[in-house]
Amino acid sequence: MRNGTVGEAPAEREAAVSGEEALRTHGLRVTRPRLAVLDVLAEGGHLEVEEIARRVRQRLESVSTQAVYDVLGALSRAGLARRIEPAGSPARYEARTGDNHHHVVCRGCGMVADVDCAIGEAPCLDPSNAQGFEVDEAEVTFWGLCPGCQARRAED
Ligand SMILES: [Zn+2]
Ligand SMILES: [Zn+2]
Ligand SMILES: [Zn+2]
Repeated sequence: MRNGTVGEAPAEREAAVSGEEALRTHGLRVTRPRLAVLDVLAEGGHLEVEEIARRVRQRLESVSTQAVYDVLGALSRAGLARRIEPAGSPARYEARTGDNHHHVVCRGCGMVADVDCAIGEAPCLDPSNAQGFEVDEAEVTFWGLCPGCQARRAED
């Protein structure tokens, strides 16, 4: 583990190393596009594919959007990325996986924020009647207006 003192370079190197390890640990071949997508997701947030592709091309010029889709599919199946698709919004991907966290989505601008799950593992809600199903997940999405949209609405 490097202990950088200045700038972002040490952190970037560290992310690259852990990206390779993450791919190998999850049984995925290490490729430059996969590393680049992991690197972009590590910057945080809930990113649309177009935005991920744009940032990947800042790192590797000749990566098609289809290739980015393929990488995101492989990373999601391996548990290295999480795909969310709030109603009315394109799919978004994030690096934060495995903690069953939920999302709050703004009805005004579509912004997505993380909400920790009080339980931490799925399913965190019990159905009143499971209808004989073995339930493994409760998909919880909170909807509302973000602080920015509340302020804009107050100004109108
Ligand atoms: Zn908003
Ligand atoms: Zn999230
Ligand atoms: Zn929960």
